[in-house]
Amino acid sequence: MGQRLIISGKAVWMYLLMKGKPVVSVSAQSGPFENVRNALSQLDLSSLKGKRILIKPNVGRIAPPEYGYNTHPQAVAAIIETLREIEVEEIAIGESPIVNVDTFKAFQRAGFTEMAARYGVELIDFNSKPPVVKQINHPRILNETKICQQVYDYDILISVPVAKTHMHTGVTLGIKNMKGCLYRHEKVKYHQLEYIKKEYPEKTLDSAISDLATVLLPDITVVDGYIGMEGLGPSGGEPKKSDFAVASFNPMGADVVACRLMGVSIDDVAHLKIISKRNKLSCDIADYEVLPANYEQYIAPYQQPPKEISFKFPGVEVQDVDSCSACLSTIMLFLNRFSDEMNDYKLCDGKFHIAIGKGIEKAMEGTVFVGNCTRHMKDKGIFVKGCPPVATRIYEAIVHQEPDKNEPEV
Ligand code: SF4
Repeated sequence: MGQRLIISGKAVWMYLLMKGKPVVSVSAQSGPFENVRNALSQLDLSSLKGKRILIKPNVGRIAPPEYGYNTHPQAVAAIIETLREIEVEEIAIGESPIVNVDTFKAFQRAGFTEMAARYGVELIDFNSKPPVVKQINHPRILNETKICQQVYDYDILISVPVAKTHMHTGVTLGIKNMKGCLYRHEKVKYHQLEYIKKEYPEKTLDSAISDLATVLLPDITVVDGYIGMEGLGPSGGEPKKSDFAVASFNPMGADVVACRLMGVSIDDVAHLKIISKRNKLSCDIADYEVLPANYEQYIAPYQQPPKEISFKFPGVEVQDVDSCSACLSTIMLFLNRFSDEMNDYKLCDGKFHIAIGKGIEKAMEGTVFVGNCTRHMKDKGIFVKGCPPVATRIYEAIVHQEPDKNEPEV
């Protein structure tokens, strides 16, 4: 079993002192393949010769490349071609998508099945083996976490996120992409944590991601910014063609520079700020050598996630208390598609009420409660099970009045 590289604070600062600033490489305006090829060409990859490499893209959802949900397959193809030139021992691509998404269906729709076959590279469903349980030292919120075993079967882990804004974490980039190495429902657990340690003001999700970063960080990060997602990411936003790639051995450097290119302030990305302190990885862009020096000409500002999602839907009252992005995205998709048909289901105040999140305590009689987190409210209205349920299931539960009151937990 290979050892994952966890960069200790001492090691990082020794590296900075001895070698100068960590290099972060940027390439843009050349498409997903050439952007990545060019960005990698500015890094010294010779240490990877003879190594067994695991590529972890973001293929969390069943969607084609041009929608901005998933990493573009051509970005990964460029990594494979680069690695083959330096004679690595083996290359594989692995993913554990969001709950209820079949890994190989996601790979197929995202264009990875055909691409991987062309290069003779194995695609791995991370959920196919029992996980490794990792203890977290000095945790903020998680004492342990379940990581997919295959992550430890390789020498080098390359995180290849697609650039996206995220309604809860500001952005989702290379470090947060490690959440896709969590085993099955472990991902959901990160969204359901109670607020145990009051001394931390950040969201529990940010604390949990920082706990994960103490035991798992990528050895190399390649951010695919060809077609990202802006606004209500990671799944309810709009595709954003920004046509850049960022590559670095330094996971924080890659994410910080990608944020800069997306027009996102690090101050709005709590998990990077926390990880910067805990792992002693600077989140000050001045501490990195960014190539080329004029990289800022490639800044393509991403629209930030809205603070409220109900404003777009007159007559709809969305009650959201500590939901996660998956339920919010589902609600967004549901309302985009069906809000006009919900007029018949308005309550006595003239509004259609829908509630999500683990913190719902009170709601108007007749509210639609979406997601397993709201199960305790099921007797107050229509309960739709799932984590999250799909939009059409919500519609059916409302229109056909088929509440899931007696269904077992998913
Ligand atoms: S039910 Fe919804 S809010 Fe709760 S964990 Fe699942 S997806 Fe997140």
